[in-house]
Amino acid sequence: MSHESLRCLVSGIQHFSPCPGHGLRTTIFFAGCPLRCFWCCNPECRLNRPVLVCNTEKCIGQSLCGHCLDSCSSSAIYSSKNAIRVARDRCVNCGECVSRCPSGALFMSSRLMSPEEIMEDVLKDKDYVMNGGGITLSGGEPMMHPQEAAALMRLAHAEGLHTAMETCGFFDLDAPHTIAALRETDLLFFSIQHSDPLAHRRGTGVDNSRILCNFERIVAEFPQLEINSRTLIVPDFNDDDTTMRNIARIVKRTGSFFHILEVFSPICQDKYAQMGLPFSYGQLALPQERLEAIVDIFQEEGLSVEIH
Ligand code: SF4
Ligand code: SF4
Repeated sequence: MSHESLRCLVSGIQHFSPCPGHGLRTTIFFAGCPLRCFWCCNPECRLNRPVLVCNTEKCIGQSLCGHCLDSCSSSAIYSSKNAIRVARDRCVNCGECVSRCPSGALFMSSRLMSPEEIMEDVLKDKDYVMNGGGITLSGGEPMMHPQEAAALMRLAHAEGLHTAMETCGFFDLDAPHTIAALRETDLLFFSIQHSDPLAHRRGTGVDNSRILCNFERIVAEFPQLEINSRTLIVPDFNDDDTTMRNIARIVKRTGSFFHILEVFSPICQDKYAQMGLPFSYGQLALPQERLEAIVDIFQEEGLSVEIH
């Protein structure tokens, strides 16, 4: 079946990706996310539309080039202290300046690709990825585009590839396309960020009731699906004993005995600057002894833990 009419809004395709899953992976980053986590590591994937990104480190300089300066009919590009800048209040993200930039300093955060085009790119690595590896859908939130996600994974399965998906869990589980996407998923990484609805809303913009309900239902209703629950430990948000124990109990209540812990790293600050976005989160580090105490909590609750 052809998916020619479908278009995935893709922020990037990463070959030999460090993203989790079995074997070697190619990760496809979908753009668009219903959450606004204040620690988000992929701000370029949050909006469901392309946004201009300006990486001044790649700019070869106004004196050598400067093509972008007269390319913008909105007068949104200017120079300050010999560096190219974008006036975000005037930029309409039309992409005209991108086509004039020879160095790749200016680029759009995402673009539309058909599932077939994505698979063509994925299959460049087929000889390496075939050996138990496959594709991982990430983002952003792949389930904001469940029809496209299902189509892409169907193509991957037809090539004998394993499929994995990373999700924040905030989606309509009863929508037919969502169900189809879950049926095409071999391994689901499901994030549980907080046990308390109000704290979850403060940190992500939505409360967690739908996410927790989806988690319990998916475990019960999709027995063929391998599910890895996981939590990104964000200092001063969810790293206290009570929250961690409550998350462990939520996982255990579903009959699962395994959970992944990830540790926040503020490596994404440059991306915020390139998109003209503020990054308000500080650089709090999680002390090793605190991480060990959290692992102890999960083990006391009967779960085995992997740290990523
Ligand atoms: S994306 Fe369009 S509006 Fe924005 S700076 Fe470039 S040319 Fe101007
Ligand atoms: S077009 Fe690109 S390389 Fe040339 S000055 Fe503008 S940002 Fe720099």
